[in-house]
Amino acid sequence: MKKIAILGSTGSIGTQTLEVVRENKDIEVLGLAAGSNVELLEKQAREFHPRLIAVWTEEKAKELRARVRDTDMKVVSGMEGLIEVSTMSDVEILVTAIVGMIGIRPTVEAVRAGKNIALANKETLVTAGHIIMPLAEENHVSVLPVDSEHSAIFQSLRGNEAKAVNRILLTASGGPFRGKREEDLLNVRVEDALRHPNWSMGQKITIDSSTMVNKGLEVIEAKWLFGVDVDQVQVVVQPQSIIHSMVEYVDGAVMAQLGTPDMKLPIQYALYYPKRRYLPGERLDFWSLGRLDFEKPDMDTFYGLKLAYDAGRAGGTLPTVFNAANELAVKQFLNREIKYLEIIEIIEDCMKAHKNIKEPTLEQIFDTERATYERIESRR
Ligand code: NDP
Repeated sequence: MKKIAILGSTGSIGTQTLEVVRENKDIEVLGLAAGSNVELLEKQAREFHPRLIAVWTEEKAKELRARVRDTDMKVVSGMEGLIEVSTMSDVEILVTAIVGMIGIRPTVEAVRAGKNIALANKETLVTAGHIIMPLAEENHVSVLPVDSEHSAIFQSLRGNEAKAVNRILLTASGGPFRGKREEDLLNVRVEDALRHPNWSMGQKITIDSSTMVNKGLEVIEAKWLFGVDVDQVQVVVQPQSIIHSMVEYVDGAVMAQLGTPDMKLPIQYALYYPKRRYLPGERLDFWSLGRLDFEKPDMDTFYGLKLAYDAGRAGGTLPTVFNAANELAVKQFLNREIKYLEIIEIIEDCMKAHKNIKEPTLEQIFDTERATYERIESRR
């Protein structure tokens, strides 16, 4: 039995990870963690029998303890709770499916404890990749991508020499506003931005996909996962989301991974790597597919992608500013406190005002996050 723990088990990636567990029957879930959805956590706990469950607030932990008092499961809370789940003895793989920079500390502690990471939580690598990747090497742990694009790159790298990579071709669907101009986006409502054409995902990443900030985060994620410069990562819009990404080698050969859009494939691949397992589901039918389209991304309208390249190139604390500003701005947009286009304006404003710190420590990353939030709050 493979032994795993999941941070963010109640979310889109978390629940799909549990579907993979359910279908395979040879994975044991030792720990679960989520924010506040105790109803679903209880259901998951009763089905998968973890030893330890973490929820964010102590109030929710009390509620969950009462719900599972007929079992011997331990319920913990707060950051200590998340770290306890991340570092549980016997866990081999930690699935980081939590959303946002809150995943940094638990991921760092899991790596220190020698756990392999199945990483969905891209915000941690974007902001602390320079700490996490060397630490992973030092502790001989693997950081296995769950993001479909990075899993595709990872799969396209297999059997080839890393030093023969010329470029990474990171595909993007273009999101719900592909082809639109800035003037068309002035009055975008939350419901419009949440309507992704190909993928069903959590709210934050769905908004990020619509602004193409998600693609920007992925460019920086690719830099850390695959040890390339951000300028070696070219974004290619592939509206059908069939080609999940590609690698171009020095001899001009391009390797790609294709498939129907289904996150269970990269999740399962990360959990069983290097083995492939049967996965039920739709198969690609090229006869009915007929064609695949490609476009250059519009970085004037989707300016957030350009800002991500700037942040990725500069490194230091600038990617933290890019990410933290986006996290809070998206929250404010979802709460209908700001307009859609303000998300990118806020990110740009925070980046312009920031004095970059090279090779920041974790404390400096969190200080930068705090300062970015304060700047945004002071705009109100
Ligand atoms: P969701 O919003 O669907 O889920 C987020 C999860 O994180 C929930 O389980 C939530 O718990 C939990 N969570 C939030 N805050 C806390 C907290 N303070 N403490 C503990 N748990 C918390 O997000 P997604 O699944 O869509 O995304 C998760 C990550 O994966 C993101 O980084 C995203 O960018 C990445 N990703 C997602 C993809 C997708 O297809 N969805 C694809 C590729 C990457 P609760 O609901 O109980 O509050």
